[in-house]
Amino acid sequence: MPARTIDGRALAQRLREQVKRDVEALVALDIPPNLVSLQVGESEPSQHYLESQKRACGEVGILYTHVRLDRRIGERQFLAHVDGICKNPEVNGLIIQLPVPKRLAGAPLQKAYRLMDPEKDVEGVHPSNQGSVLSGQVEGALLPCTALAVLALAREPGIPIRGKEAVVIGHSQIVGKPISALLLNEGATVTTCHVDTRDLSEHTRHADVLVVAVGRPGLVRGDMVKEGAIVIDVGLTYVDERDEQGVLVTRPRGDVAFAEAAERAGHLTPVPGGVGPVTVAMLLSNTIQAARFQARRRGMLK
Ligand code: NAD
Repeated sequence: MPARTIDGRALAQRLREQVKRDVEALVALDIPPNLVSLQVGESEPSQHYLESQKRACGEVGILYTHVRLDRRIGERQFLAHVDGICKNPEVNGLIIQLPVPKRLAGAPLQKAYRLMDPEKDVEGVHPSNQGSVLSGQVEGALLPCTALAVLALAREPGIPIRGKEAVVIGHSQIVGKPISALLLNEGATVTTCHVDTRDLSEHTRHADVLVVAVGRPGLVRGDMVKEGAIVIDVGLTYVDERDEQGVLVTRPRGDVAFAEAAERAGHLTPVPGGVGPVTVAMLLSNTIQAARFQARRRGMLK
């Protein structure tokens, strides 16, 4: 039987409605939630993500500022911006948009993460938040939005994750690794695959829950999917293609060959309309959480 599509847009809508009620409650207490998105240079995937953030914040009433720095900015100035934004009492949440230019992508980016106020770290990249993901002690922490989105989508079919075989392809700091950790915390037996994994399908064919977060369209073919599996496609690549009229169009593509996988999976997320909208909703939800943390710190909230 063909897979049932897990509707990320519907789940995101439900999450946004809750966030909207939370924003209204905070605004009534004179605590208007405020999110800053810091971008260095420009890239197409982050442009799409920024537009979605802005639109979603507007919809729920979160104040939103996009700060774009010149791509040639030096490390010291970049860190000074991160520090300045975190020290601004008006700002509740900061997200550093990826990718940053290569020069800043290694040690400087990690320094920026460490410099952040963990209670404003709405992407869950500060070592203290990353540690909470690993320890499973998540009270008072902010967890990575995409990992939260994957978990929420994997729960949608209502099938318990505990005791299941889960395979995650991708082991990046803010996507693959935290997804593996959250699934482990849920009681799944988790295998993490990556670029050096010798035989992907050897692992994926046993996965009751398969999460793919690579950025290579069509990496997972139908015959790599176990019958009845829950498949969550995190991959998002913008591909130039000709439409039916022969006009060149840019379309988002996931990592899973959708039509083939749908013949075997039990439940499957589409691209677009799967992980993307839920990730944005989780960012909003983390911003509310961050605003509450800071209001408590200032004695404005119990
Ligand atoms: P990344 O480049 O940091 O990491 C890619 C991962 O894929 C690495 O762990 C690497 O080892 C692995 N990999 C690369 N080639 C592989 C191969 N042939 N076989 C197996 N593993 C391979 O990327 P990222 O930031 O983790 O993002 C991954 C994908 O998820 C991208 O397409 C990104 O656009 C997308 N993404 C989507 C959302 C969303 O909300 N929809 C959010 C974040 C990331």
